[in-house]
Formats: sequence, C-alpha cells, structure tokens
Amino acid sequence: MEKKKYSRPEISREELQEQLFDANLQLQAANDRLLQEERIRTELFANLSHDLRSPLTALASSIGYLQTGTVSPEETQSVLHIMEKRTKYLQTLVADMFLLAKMENSDTRLQLEQIDAAAFLEEYFYSCEADVLYEDRQLRLEIPEDLSVEVCIDPQMMVRVLDNLFTNARKYSASGASICLCVSCGAGELRFSVRDTGIGIAPEELPHIFERSFRSTKARTPGDDSSGLGLSIAQKIVERHGGTIHCESTPGEGTCFTVTLPTVTHFACGER
Ligand code: ADP
Repeated sequence: MEKKKYSRPEISREELQEQLFDANLQLQAANDRLLQEERIRTELFANLSHDLRSPLTALASSIGYLQTGTVSPEETQSVLHIMEKRTKYLQTLVADMFLLAKMENSDTRLQLEQIDAAAFLEEYFYSCEADVLYEDRQLRLEIPEDLSVEVCIDPQMMVRVLDNLFTNARKYSASGASICLCVSCGAGELRFSVRDTGIGIAPEELPHIFERSFRSTKARTPGDDSSGLGLSIAQKIVERHGGTIHCESTPGEGTCFTVTLPTVTHFACGER
C-alpha cells in the first residue's frame, strides 16, 4: 500500500509566536477563572460551616437543657419552639444548597414546557394576592392586555424564581409597602420585574447580592431563617433558561429585579 505523505503546513516564526501568545493568554484566563471558582467555593464552605454550626450548637444545648429534667412544662414548650425554628432553618439551608448544586450541574435537565407567559404570570400573581402573607402589602399587576407570547420554561423552577423575588420584596419592606409585578415584551424577549417600595440596597452591596451566601448587614438579624442563597438560586435558574436577571435599587425608596427570558420563536423548546 502506498504511504500517504503529510507535509507540515508552512508557518512563519512570527505566526508561531503569535499563536503561542494567544494560547498563553487563554491558559491564563482559564487559570484565573479556576482560582476565582476556588475562592468562591472556599468562601461558600466557610459561610455554610458557620451557618450550620450556630443552629446545631443551639439544638445541642437545648437538648442538654431539656435532659436535666428540671425544666417546667411551660419552659419546655418555649425551648421546643426554638428547636423547631432552628430545625426549619437547617432544612431550608440544606434544601437550598441541594437545589443550587443541582442547577450548577449541567447534567441536570430542566423539565421544559411551552407556556403562555401571561397565563403563567397571572396565575402566580393571583396566588400571591390570595396568600395571607401578603395581606398587609399592596400587590399590583401591570401586564399588557394583548400580551400573547409563549416561553419555554420549567414552570416549577420559574415559580421558585418568583417565590424568591416576592419573598424578598415582602421581607425587605414594611407593612403597607407596594409590590408590583410588571410584565412587558419586545425584541424576542419577555421581561418581568418584581418592584417593591422597601428598604432598598446600599450601592456598595448591590454588586454582591447574587453571590452565594451574601447577606446585607441589615438582613443578618438574629432568628431570621433564610439561607442567603435565594438570589444565587434565582440567577442560576434564569441563566439555565437562557435568560438574565438584574437589580436596580435606591436605599430608602425600593428595589426592582428584572428577569429577561427568550420567547419561544427565538429559542426552540427542548434545547436546555
Ligand atoms: P436572603 O434574603 O436569604 O438573605 P437572598 O440571596 O435572597 O438571601 O438575598 C441576598 C441579599 O440581597 C439579602 O440579604 C438582602 O440584603 C438583599 N436583597 C434581596 N432582595 C432584596 C429586596 N427586595 N430589597 C432589599 N434587599 C434585598
């Protein structure tokens, strides 16, 4: 059999140097990304260890206290109440960590459905309106009457995004505040915003709110049982849908989170 001859393509020394230089830049960028990921993971681990340690310590000392056998029935009830709250916090933290890890794993498939955006968002809004948790807030829905677009979403996951945004809007505002769900559409995108008239976010904290375990100084109140992972989870879910989420806020005036999602004609269902 006749051997094929391979000739090396002619390449000048300058071209070779240029290629090496580019490859080096790419390696450096990849290395920076890995270092950044590593830093975030170490920080997350330290934060989570801290977040797990204090409720576990509280639970252990409550058990020890109850075991002394000297506690009155009334006091037993109040200790049990504290233990229940701490246990719920741990359950939330573990469930949120699990969901975040699931969303970060590219092997996790979303359960996508082609859905009428207006119907989906209206249903969510009316369920909040009926919820007793929102009875001291003024809820408003702004949606174009003729909005007729479909989105390809995992409804359960998108409800999770809305839940996080609505819960925060309520948590970081006072009784009587207004929370508005504003919907619009254009250029192949659906946009929905959750806007509140709450405490707002300090400009120096705004760039960090989507970081895992970031909680503002105001949010770190004793007894608060949220995990600080809500916005990281919301961002991951939105990004897995090919969308974006961003926040604008003015301290003392309020906050607005806007989610942008591709509409169906611009993003075939079943690709994510
Ligand atoms: P959590 O609410 O559990 O602390 P999140 O990830 O949901 O965690 O939010 C991160 C931080 O972003 C909060 O601690 C808070 O400081 C800020 N934040 C989020 N939503 C709002 C809002 N609507 N108004 C003011 N601050 C907010």
